[in-house]
Amino acid sequence: MNPIVVAGAGIGGLSAALALAKRGFDVQVYERTPEIREVGAGLQLGPNAFGAFDELGIRDRMAGIAFAPDTIRFRDSETARDIFRQNLGQSFTQRFGHPYRVAFRADVQRELLNAVQAEARCVVHTGDGIASFVPEERGVFAITDRGRRIAAAALVGADGIWSGIRQAIIGDGRPLSQGHIAYRAVVPVAALRGRLATDDVQVWVGPGHHLVCYKLRRGELFNVVAIIESSAQHEGWEEAPDLKVLHDSFAQACAPIQALLPLLKVRCALQELRQVPIAKSQASSMFPEVSQLPPGV
Ligand SMILES: Cc1cc2nc3c(=O)[nH]c(=O)nc-3n(C[C@H](O)[C@H](O)[C@H](O)COP(=O)(O)OP(=O)(O)OC[C@H]3O[C@@H](n4cnc5c(N)ncnc54)[C@H](O)[C@@H]3O)c2cc1C
Repeated sequence: MNPIVVAGAGIGGLSAALALAKRGFDVQVYERTPEIREVGAGLQLGPNAFGAFDELGIRDRMAGIAFAPDTIRFRDSETARDIFRQNLGQSFTQRFGHPYRVAFRADVQRELLNAVQAEARCVVHTGDGIASFVPEERGVFAITDRGRRIAAAALVGADGIWSGIRQAIIGDGRPLSQGHIAYRAVVPVAALRGRLATDDVQVWVGPGHHLVCYKLRRGELFNVVAIIESSAQHEGWEEAPDLKVLHDSFAQACAPIQALLPLLKVRCALQELRQVPIAKSQASSMFPEVSQLPPGV
């Protein structure tokens, strides 16, 4: 049987590759970027994530790189008043079947990559993406950026929120803007003054904004993300931030937040939060004969 081709070595593509290999399929992963670098910030891994890690046989790897917060603590961003606190201890894990953890995206991706590379059935190619594909009666021909033609049993489009493969198959338009932008930073806990980095997931909420922060990587790093309402249009994950807009939005915020905001100058990134439209039609009924992916995706 021909291999299954996976386009994209993000968390989705690597998880799909691992799952397919565990079911006995040969998998070829194609990642367009030349190397899998340490990019991104924090991810909250709810109990369902650990359910998936169990299935993929990588629970211990992920537990080893994550941080186990004590609580999720919601507070008013102006008065610092406690609004709600969710304990994340044993009773939470028992209730939902798996723990709640937080982790650095780069660590999650690296551990997935290590697990995929340990599978004899998987090959990961970097610096070569899927440029187009041709559906065949018994599968699909995938054509890479470098012109390689691969006879595949199937093609998995795991090419992210701007997925060209999704557009070629479903054609349901660009992701929808949610009217918010996020500012992110990850800093070493050791570089922080005072008691900003607690062992909780801190969620500060107020009018037109919220700010979330928590430790990552076994407690060595601290992740801060501030989200504000904005109609600004941005793409990508790493952009120079407009800090004035951020500071204006948090002008009335309490002292702990004022102490956190300057961190967002450090290795900061801006992103517009977007949502993929819900597909209305069956992909197979819309397959074009040759699917050339839109440029720059
Ligand atoms: C650089 C980066 C940083 C991010 N940082 C954060 C973060 O800090 N916090 C957060 O919550 N989420 C972050 N995300 C998003 C989050 O990781 C994903 O939305 C989520 O994990 C879903 O993953 P995914 O595998 O579907 O897509 P992604 O993680 O976006 O991965 C898609 C991959 O496909 C590759 N690709 C694109 N087109 C092609 C093609 N035609 N052929 C081959 N490869 C292709 C891309 O280079 C990318 O590596 C980030 C994503 C990226 C790409």
